[in-house]
Amino acid sequence: MPNQLNTEALLTLAKSTNPLDECSECRSLICSGWESLPYSFNSDSLALIGTLRSNDEEKSWEEYHPNGTQLWSSDAPIAIDFHPYNRCDVYQCKNCLRVYLRYTEYGGYYIDERIRAVDPNLIVTLPMK
Ligand SMILES: [Zn+2]
Repeated sequence: MPNQLNTEALLTLAKSTNPLDECSECRSLICSGWESLPYSFNSDSLALIGTLRSNDEEKSWEEYHPNGTQLWSSDAPIAIDFHPYNRCDVYQCKNCLRVYLRYTEYGGYYIDERIRAVDPNLIVTLPMK
């Protein structure tokens, strides 16, 4: 079981990187909103750092969009208690240390691996429920 990260840990991790760096390893992955993982993606370039998934099975499907964004918006807030962040694992590029979130969407007839680069400015801290 990977490390459980809370909002503060994710924020610290994301702030420790310089998102302006051009990186030959993960350049094709840099996306401000969610995207399907490209087929050309080399999984060796990312290291698993931790997870945002909690142990309890009752994961909310609720999303957090106070400002009219939607799941795919490039400026959608990152609220780790909400879908899809409560299903995400946290990865870091081994080369430039850029932080990424990944989760797998299970549709009826497909599995879609999705990835989003973490912008620390989009991480929101919410009061505990
Ligand atoms: Zn990189």
